Amino acid sequence: MIQALARLSTDAVHGHDHADAYGSHIPPIYLSVIYEYIDYEQGLAVFTDRGKMLRYGREENPTTRALERVVAKLENSEDALAFNSGMAAISTVLLWYLKPGSKIVIPMEVYSTTLHVLTVLAPRLGIRVEKVWPSAEAIAEAVNSETAMVFLEVMTNPTNKVIDLSYLAKHIDLEKVTLVADNTFTTPVLLKPIKYGAKLVVHSATKYLGGHNDVVGGVVAGRKSIMDELWEWRRMLGGILQPFEAYLVMRGVKTLEVRFEKQSTSAKAVAEFLAEHPRVEDVMYPGLSKSPYHDVAKKLFEKPLFGGVLSFRIRGSYEDTLRFMKKLKVIKRCPSLGGTESMAVLPVKAGAMFIEPEHRVKLGITENLVRLAIGLEDVNDIVEDLAQALS
Ligand SMILES: *Cc1c(COP(=O)(O)O)cnc(C)c1O
Repeated sequence: MIQALARLSTDAVHGHDHADAYGSHIPPIYLSVIYEYIDYEQGLAVFTDRGKMLRYGREENPTTRALERVVAKLENSEDALAFNSGMAAISTVLLWYLKPGSKIVIPMEVYSTTLHVLTVLAPRLGIRVEKVWPSAEAIAEAVNSETAMVFLEVMTNPTNKVIDLSYLAKHIDLEKVTLVADNTFTTPVLLKPIKYGAKLVVHSATKYLGGHNDVVGGVVAGRKSIMDELWEWRRMLGGILQPFEAYLVMRGVKTLEVRFEKQSTSAKAVAEFLAEHPRVEDVMYPGLSKSPYHDVAKKLFEKPLFGGVLSFRIRGSYEDTLRFMKKLKVIKRCPSLGGTESMAVLPVKAGAMFIEPEHRVKLGITENLVRLAIGLEDVNDIVEDLAQALS
């Protein structure tokens, strides 16, 4: 069992616990797919610190394992597993857990492909999916004795609603119902869902953990007993994160806290600029004191930071919104978030595709909505870019 030894940034730098005969401090990239049997008649090989045999690259890899030790510490979990994308992590969790007749409660606003995979799996596996308003009250109300799993994102995408995990912990028996929290947007810098009774935490490591828009990856963190079961599923389904990618994520994680702080500070400044702008209808960012989610975010988040992603509505039509997008220079028109580059997307044409049309209207995902993911550029250049594109 892995335990956090230090505060977040210290674990992010040193938590790989790598040691070798050369005293190298940085974990090497172990490209070898094969490892020699100690006893080939018995099929016995070297064991990693997880207690699993190091035999073959689809099962275990020492570099990937080093990243998993770091992530487990950051999430205050007993162990973690790394996958070759966030969706590989999420779909492996769903296939491991859901059985015919299982009911899953999920907010109507979650990552589009998560909704998509559930939509495809539900009729094939006989799973019942209940989509509810993204609030702790609505989730708690939908949970009953038939509910096997609650899957949620603590901060939703793209409208940045914050779900009160402390309310859920009080109103749902989280020993009976498996709570899976996608912590991609909040990261362990703001929140460790395990502290609120989540059994599993999942991430797209492609976003803040990797942080440089140069690697796709995913992680799952939780109790060792569950990680041991999921390890078998990862081996069967083949979704292990490869060593070079694990190295890149591990390198990214070292600067997670400083990047997240700068991106959050810049995002707040951008949100404040937009909130005052005459061509902006409204801004969705829990860091604004007038946001309806400001108080719950302040209560839940471990630091007075609110993340690097914000959304806003342009005063005007879809065509006006397209004109604004075309004029951006510093900010790139790309999906994704949490990386070094600032990026803008139109959720109706990208991320929100699998959110049902009537749900989109209720949630506030309209044709004039723009999602901004703030990068590490100078914030003055980002604000000036927005000002010229809005003019
Ligand atoms: C991107 C994302 C995912 C999917 O991760 P991939 O690495 O793209 O597979 C899942 N959840 C959230 C919240 C995301 O932003």
